[in-house]
Amino acid sequence: MFNAQNIRKDFPILSRKVNGKPLVYFDNAATSQTPQQVIDAIVDYYSNYNANIHRGVHTLSQEATDLYEQARQKIQTHFGAKFSHEIILTSGTTHSINLVANGFSSLLKKGDEIIVSALEHHSNIVPWQMLCERTGAILKVIPMNEEGELVMPVFDDLLSENTKLVFVNHISNALGTINPIEYIIEKAHQVGAAVLIDGAQACPHIKPDVQALDVDFYVASAHKMCGPTGVGMLYGKEAWLNKLPPYQGGGEMIAEVTFEKTTYADLPHKFEAGTPNIAGGIVFGAAIDYMNSIGFDTIATYENELLNYATEKLLAIEGLKIYGTSKNKTSLISFNLESIHPYDVGTILDKLGIAVRTGHHCAQPIMDFYCIPGTVRASFSFYNTKEEIDALVEGVKKAKMMLS
Ligand code: PLP
Repeated sequence: MFNAQNIRKDFPILSRKVNGKPLVYFDNAATSQTPQQVIDAIVDYYSNYNANIHRGVHTLSQEATDLYEQARQKIQTHFGAKFSHEIILTSGTTHSINLVANGFSSLLKKGDEIIVSALEHHSNIVPWQMLCERTGAILKVIPMNEEGELVMPVFDDLLSENTKLVFVNHISNALGTINPIEYIIEKAHQVGAAVLIDGAQACPHIKPDVQALDVDFYVASAHKMCGPTGVGMLYGKEAWLNKLPPYQGGGEMIAEVTFEKTTYADLPHKFEAGTPNIAGGIVFGAAIDYMNSIGFDTIATYENELLNYATEKLLAIEGLKIYGTSKNKTSLISFNLESIHPYDVGTILDKLGIAVRTGHHCAQPIMDFYCIPGTVRASFSFYNTKEEIDALVEGVKKAKMMLS
């Protein structure tokens, strides 16, 4: 039986105080907190195994290599990839997207079309704009509606034989909308386009199966899944990864180097130049173990309960407006209070020990759609509680009283 109070004991940071008040951490969509099991895995690596990987004959290097490759296999299993070499360890979602965008520079020509969605994080917009500048390809956008959902009939109309790539996030970081990625993947494949799904916001809540989705690329960051910062992954179908050229040149990614010609290493090393974040990769595996030990069905059920509770309580505050009202959304609430600037609300909440995110959430086009400078975003994780939501509601009421 899931018990959030017991789970909270795994997270040392949740018992600290901020501004003299118990910390209420509702900035999980930016970065999740780290359980002791994951912290222990970091300490264990540096205490017992720290060495460079893949190139040493000595025992420590071999042990570190084994742990790193075991973590890759864990990530493979978790995401349902066919081969472990389809998992490229990167510094995070942004790195993974840039790796793919860079690779497509040599595969696109003038007039080819790329489709993104109006709900994207800047890291799933800017690399494609840069790719269009390099290649002459054209960027098209699936629009959103007032509820914060993608307008799918327009997507159908945008697709054509010119469409080469489609990039959409699985879940919007600004509104929490869960996008219909199964439909998007199927339709895009019908015109021969490749699909990249940005899973940064989905992976803390959902266990995606890349083979069942038949997606070409799927990307995620460990720090949103109870893991460390500076590490993430790119899943790519083997055939696509073999087609893409390397992203960065350097050690580890080569087969042979001469001044006349260099040949590249096989997957996954072709895309992993230089010394990687070894501890990060290993501990990403530990974070996945931790989340699976709780179970994604349990996580989804509990977080949905928190979402419904918070939505009802917040909407009872007069003048509070929630952005992103899709029925299909995750445990994240973006809101504003009358015409009060979100930054001011966030500052008062911080004084009460409540951590929320304020601003455009790296999704300026969404804010432009609603004609607002930003929102207050409270994002809930499985270690949050209804009592903490009550504290948020009281804090918002206080902010309203002070700022109206
Ligand atoms: N995509 C989405 C949907 C995100 O929410 C984020 C981070 O908030 C990113 C991409 C970028 O992730 P990272 O900063 O870990 O590279």
